Amino acid sequence: MNPIFCGFRKKGYLKLQTDTILLCWFLFIKLCFLKITFLGTGTSQGIPVIGSNHPVCLSEDSRDKRLRVSVLVEVGDYVYLIDCGPDFRQQMLTSGCTKIDAILFTHEHADHVNGLDDIRPFCFKQGDVPIYAHERVINSLKYRFDYVFETENKYPGAPSVSVNIIENKPFALNGVEVMPINGKHLDLQVFGFRFENFAYLTDMKTIEDEEVEKLNGLDVLVVNALRIAPHYSHFNLEEALAFVEKVNPKKAYLTHISHLMGFHEDVEKTLPENVFLAYDNLQITI
Ligand SMILES: [Zn+2]
Ligand SMILES: [Zn+2]
Repeated sequence: MNPIFCGFRKKGYLKLQTDTILLCWFLFIKLCFLKITFLGTGTSQGIPVIGSNHPVCLSEDSRDKRLRVSVLVEVGDYVYLIDCGPDFRQQMLTSGCTKIDAILFTHEHADHVNGLDDIRPFCFKQGDVPIYAHERVINSLKYRFDYVFETENKYPGAPSVSVNIIENKPFALNGVEVMPINGKHLDLQVFGFRFENFAYLTDMKTIEDEEVEKLNGLDVLVVNALRIAPHYSHFNLEEALAFVEKVNPKKAYLTHISHLMGFHEDVEKTLPENVFLAYDNLQITI
């Protein structure tokens, strides 16, 4: 073979190989890249509490203003929402979110579901929005938002969803495994969710050891910490820190915070060096 032609073929082959490696690497990064946006980090009343003169409610530090809890989890090009509370509309406007590929519900309390009517702009653009929840939570949504699930003579402007009932076993979202973490919120069952090396747990008070084992090797753990004093259905600060120590993630962020926790700036100074208070609009990448 003509040596010049042979060299050309070899170069072409090498270029093809390099392009394939780059493409695979790009796809790998796109798939593995996790971006978390804390849309809200407050407890059920939010901070400030309506009509409250508590110093934390009057604080001018933006980190002391907390909407009801919710996070956006972006996995590559896919956008997932965990919980859809009463501040959902404001959270979507602030975050500039333009699509939602699925909503995962932790449980049916009002501060986690009451924004469901406001998903309409996404339904008008995308069609049915997939929702994932325990069967009990789906039944509660059907009761509270009966018009969303109407099958006959449904009002055309109502939100539309496609229902996915989940149990305590892994499920796939566009090729990525999501691991539910089962816990108790007083006596109410609640799901947390693990995506890759990130896990989000809220409204937890007790978690069985076999569920804690699902949290091995985390880069980031988000867990609820309501306030300093104990509470019947939420971890207080001491319980949340003990849980973080047990799970041993590289970093932990605390959420579902009440004004009774104190000023963000003061509390954060008391935390271990790998534990932080989350705040609204905080973004982290993993
Ligand atoms: Zn809650
Ligand atoms: Zn709750």
